[in-house]
Amino acid sequence: MNKFQQLGLNEPILKAIEDLGFKDPSEVQEKTIPILLQKKTDLVSLAQTGTGKTAAFGFPLIQKLDPYNKKTQALILAPTRELCMQITNELKLYSKYIPEICTVAIYGGASITEQARSVKKGAHIIVATPGRMQDMQNRKLVNIREIEYCILDEADEMLNMGFYEDITSILSETPEEKSTWLFSATMLEEVARIAREFMNNPLEITVGNKNQGPQSVSHEFYLIQARDRYLALKRLADANPDIFSVVFCRTKKDTQDIADKLIEDGYNAAALHGDLSQAQRDAVMKSFRGKQIRMLVATDVAARGIDVEDITHVINYQLPDEIEIYTHRSGRTGRAGKSGTSMVIISKSELRKINAIERLIKQNFEEKPIPSGIEICEVQLFHLANKIKDVEIDHEIDSYLPVIFDVFKKLSKEDLIKKMVSVEFNRFLTYYKNAAELTSGNKKDGNSGQESFSNESDGSTRYFINVGTRDNFDWKRLKDFLTAMLELGRDDVFKVDVKESFSFFNTEPGNKDKVLKCFENFKFEGRRVSVEISKNEKSGRRENRRDHNDRKNKANNSFSTRKKTNSGSSQFSKFEKDNKEKFRSKPKRKK
Ligand code: ADP
Ligand code: MG
Repeated sequence: MNKFQQLGLNEPILKAIEDLGFKDPSEVQEKTIPILLQKKTDLVSLAQTGTGKTAAFGFPLIQKLDPYNKKTQALILAPTRELCMQITNELKLYSKYIPEICTVAIYGGASITEQARSVKKGAHIIVATPGRMQDMQNRKLVNIREIEYCILDEADEMLNMGFYEDITSILSETPEEKSTWLFSATMLEEVARIAREFMNNPLEITVGNKNQGPQSVSHEFYLIQARDRYLALKRLADANPDIFSVVFCRTKKDTQDIADKLIEDGYNAAALHGDLSQAQRDAVMKSFRGKQIRMLVATDVAARGIDVEDITHVINYQLPDEIEIYTHRSGRTGRAGKSGTSMVIISKSELRKINAIERLIKQNFEEKPIPSGIEICEVQLFHLANKIKDVEIDHEIDSYLPVIFDVFKKLSKEDLIKKMVSVEFNRFLTYYKNAAELTSGNKKDGNSGQESFSNESDGSTRYFINVGTRDNFDWKRLKDFLTAMLELGRDDVFKVDVKESFSFFNTEPGNKDKVLKCFENFKFEGRRVSVEISKNEKSGRRENRRDHNDRKNKANNSFSTRKKTNSGSSQFSKFEKDNKEKFRSKPKRKK
């Protein structure tokens, strides 16, 4: 008896599992499947990404459905259309030997009439994004009044994306007696709230630590000057010739810009974000799955839950604003027992986030220097040599060989090898020959790290500003405010330290005139806001060490807590209103 059989799964599903090539159930499957098969219960299942949650609900669901009743018996909600399609494909494989079972995906960006027609033909299972589901419900194109199972997949992400209202409104049209199964990688407060409000004494299953990523992923960070970010990305790619990666950016625009630059520089890259048409997104995903695209530059939303095998690296080109999202990013690699690397490219001003993430994932980061030009050349050289050694010979060339042998006749074996390798390799050598080191050389911990925060070594300028926590600023709000006022990028204002009635911040020295000018005659509640170059720059950071630690701890607070801290305060709102035009204007990223 195999292990899946022991969980209580029956013949047609066992056969499908065999075709899938799954040998043993994963932990979340082992814990979830027997319960769902035996009990009629609500369930909250928390497990990191890549642990096989789809099958954990998919197998028991398919076994429990009545294939001969054509009414819709189950609704699965998932955050993105890619995920909807992925789940639908998986379920079709699971139900391969129960051909009566129909699974239909409904999601935005595709013809609603087409989807309505599929549903009408009979859909035992509907897999939907909350937005399109609402739309279909409003138009009476679906009937979920008799469903027996409702599954919320990637619940944390759906809630992060602001689908709370849609979800509750959809659930209100489903019968009381149904079973609700919620799957999530992290237990955000909002997830707990859904469980409280819409579920009936749910059983809770946790696999691993609640926010922990798979141990098979190693985490690295690379400290750089903000302006070197793109060059650093290229070096990381060049130092890993077999890279098959997802590169995460914060905004759609950055995503597109970085992908464009990579393509221009000769990398097999593409962008994936919500401004692309569905056809474009499908085409990108197809090339990525086919590995023609080796660097998929994506937003968090677009790449959510995507299950592509063998992703070697996740690169955080920028860290996400909410550190919980980091787990989702790094979970794209190290899937199904394979190992992977999650890399973070950061500038000094973001270092504190690394500590917060370490606490969250209960794993340490390794600080690594950006590979030097020489190292990259070496790696590429050996890669090329091995590629030549291992390449399969297509015998189409046989007829040309005599001529080719003739061309090389006078060369020794050694010379031939040298020349052959040079053909490809000279490109790297030329590019990297005189390339400077990129690492900013600061350590995360220890004395050297503190030292490096002083003005002397990094050459930045530290300012004093006479607003602080009394004016309802915290470091994040002040930073947002300053970047908007100064029209600088997020990385260009750093070391923001907020005290009770005053604060400090740094910018590159080139911004000095701009900063001082911007706050000339600037008033807040009738009080003049003054900004001056800090007198005690040198000691700034060391003095503030305790404060800094406090802040680091705060940064590790839960999503909901932080949201609250950031929510409007009357004084600040006034500040904002008075300067609405300026504050609204989008900070421009420095080129
Ligand atoms: P999650 O939803 O937890 O992120 P998925 O359900 O997408 O994870 O599964 C991740 C990958 O693991 C998929 O490619 C899936 O086919 C594979 N997988 C799932 N269960 C097993 C198993 N028991 N044995 C081997 N591979 C599995
Ligand atoms: Mg999943």
